[in-house]
This record gives sequence, C-alpha cells and structure tokens, in this order.
Amino acid sequence: MTGSQPAIPAARPVIGEEEIDAAVRVLRSGMVVQGPEVAAFEREFGELVEGRHCVAVNSGTSALQLSLLALDLKPGDEVIVPSFSFAATANAVRLAGATPVFADIDPATFNLDPDAVAAAVTPRTVAIMPVHLYGQPAAMDRIMPIAEAHGLAVIEDAAQAHAAALNGTPVGAFGLAGCFSFYPTKNMHSLEGGMITTADAEYARKLRLLRNQGMEQRYQNEIVGANMRLTDVAAAIGRVQLGKLLGWTRKRQENAAFLNANLSGVAVPTVAEGVEHVYHQYTVRVSGDRDAFQAALAERGIGNAVYYPTPIHRLRPYLTEDGNVGPWKLPETDRAAAEVVSLPVMPSLTQEELERIVAAVNEVAA
Ligand SMILES: *Cc1c(COP(=O)(O)O)cnc(C)c1O
Repeated sequence: MTGSQPAIPAARPVIGEEEIDAAVRVLRSGMVVQGPEVAAFEREFGELVEGRHCVAVNSGTSALQLSLLALDLKPGDEVIVPSFSFAATANAVRLAGATPVFADIDPATFNLDPDAVAAAVTPRTVAIMPVHLYGQPAAMDRIMPIAEAHGLAVIEDAAQAHAAALNGTPVGAFGLAGCFSFYPTKNMHSLEGGMITTADAEYARKLRLLRNQGMEQRYQNEIVGANMRLTDVAAAIGRVQLGKLLGWTRKRQENAAFLNANLSGVAVPTVAEGVEHVYHQYTVRVSGDRDAFQAALAERGIGNAVYYPTPIHRLRPYLTEDGNVGPWKLPETDRAAAEVVSLPVMPSLTQEELERIVAAVNEVAA
C-alpha cells in the first residue's frame, strides 16, 4: 500500500442510481421476462451494428452457443478459434457439438493471424470464430475473404468489443453473427446478458426459436430449443448502460492514450491501421519476471490481472484423451500468455489515479 491512498482495482463495474431505478421500475411493472424492455434493448442495440437484427440472450456464452447451434453442426465439424481467449469461445463450440481448431495469433494485436486461419482450414471446417480481444477488432478485412473463399460461416466473439470498429464497420456487423456479453466487467453490462447480431432475417428467427424452447407461438414448438431468455430487469439495466457506452468508450480511449504516452519499460498495445480500439483491457507485455512485476504493482495499490494465463488448448477439457497437449503449434499464443498484464483503464479513473499507475509501472519496470 502507498500510504493512505486506496488501492486502484483492475475494474470497477457501474451499478448507479439510474440502473437501480430502471430495475425497480421493471419489477413494479410485473413484465419481467422477454417483455417490452428486451424488445427495446434489441432495437436500440441494433444502432451499434448498422441496424442488424438483434437477439438478446442471458449471457455472452449463450450468444456464442446459440449462434453455433443455429448452424446445425454435426460431430466432427470444425470451427477455427484462437486459443488466446476466454474459455467460453471454445466451450461454445464443444457445447454445440463441434470441434474447436486452434489457430495462432498475430503478436502485434493478440488477435487471430489470418495466415494461420487460412492454414487451419480443412474439408471439415464449417466456421471461423474470431475474437476481438481486449476491445481491438480482429483482422476482419482479411478473415472475411478467407471465409468467403471456403464457404465458411463467421461468428464474431465481440464479448469484449462493444462499439469497436475496423475501417468504419462496427464489430458484430461483419460475420453471419456477432456475439456480445453484458457481464459486469465488460464495457457495458446488464448484470448477466448477451446479444446476437445478424443481417440474416431467417437466421435471426431461428435464434429466437432456439432461445425459447423452439416456440414462436406458445406451445407450438417448431424445433428443439433451450431457455436462454433475458429478463426485462437485465434489459432495462442494459439500456441505461448502452446510453452511456460511447462516453465511457471515449474515456477508456483517453485513459489508454495517456498510458501509451507515459509508460516506459513495458510494451504498450499496438493498434492496427483503421482500427477503433475500445480498450476493454489495456494490456502490456512485460519482459522478465511477470509474477514479481504483478506483485510489486499490487504492493503499490495498482490492481492488475492476466488475461489469460493459460491458453485454451492447455486447459484440461482441451487436452488429448491421455492428458497431453494436442498437436497445436501456437508459439505466439504461448508467448502472449506468459508475457501479458492488463492495467486499470476503466472510465472512472481519475487523473490522479492515472498518474499513480504510470509512476508505479515505470518504477517497477525500471
Ligand atoms: C466474457 C466473454 C465471453 C462470455 O461472456 P459471458 O457473458 O460471461 O458468458 C465470451 N468470450 C469472451 C472473449 C469474453 O471475454
């Protein structure tokens, strides 16, 4: 601890008076599940993704899972994913009955390397699932042509990238589906929640059926479906947060610009050409002993975290049957997992806190 100054947490989810008022209003209304607030949230979120259809669900993981279930995957179908992501990315593929195939990342952006994606395509590949990690869009300008050349669906994992864009196109408006999360630590939240965005009306209808037991009309089930509905309480909170998203995003970008300009001794994020990075995380690379670096920052009251210390292909469910790491060649994924540290970048940071972060990092990294 640095004297009497309170520690700066790694993230600070917002549940303000407006969010609480919105939740109470819905509870008093009695319309609490898949009602008018959900419909309004879907309509308003569509403005972020060029007016695409939006289907609200109960989590980001459900969004990924439903968007894959709607492809009617067969056992043995392959979906290309990064291993340098949250496990939900690959879990959704497995839960939908298909096989994740891991491709390596571009060390400059931490996102899928398009050359690695192209090399991972086989006759069994049905989809590519790029992740816009830390809030930076993946190289969709190169990934979409690969998908088109091979007739593959693209499902964007945009859980960390609300309002991020590449060459003017927002994430969630590139692939067949864009999948967003509204978990409390994300750039906006609804306590728990998720959204699927798509330009394909037929596909959107199928997502709506799958979300609600396969029913459009009550008790007239058309297909087998799940219950992945969003509550109206969550949607009302999400609408309040959506209204603040762009202001918060600007503040995240300003915070990141200050850190970029003032940090030394660590490798600051690189942003690809034409990219609107929304800094869900501000992630640096540390050379040397990362554990010691993290501990020294924590000692100085600077919250920090590693996303993600273990690449998905090294997690237990993704090992081979005899418990070994599969035949993957992912050197940049392994290197990133060993080197990254995320620093606080949330919108509520004060100038004084930003300066404390810079002073601590520069001292520890020296
Ligand atoms: C948060 C996250 C998810 C899952 O979202 P939940 O709402 O927590 O289910 C999926 N993918 C990535 C990359 C995430 O960061």
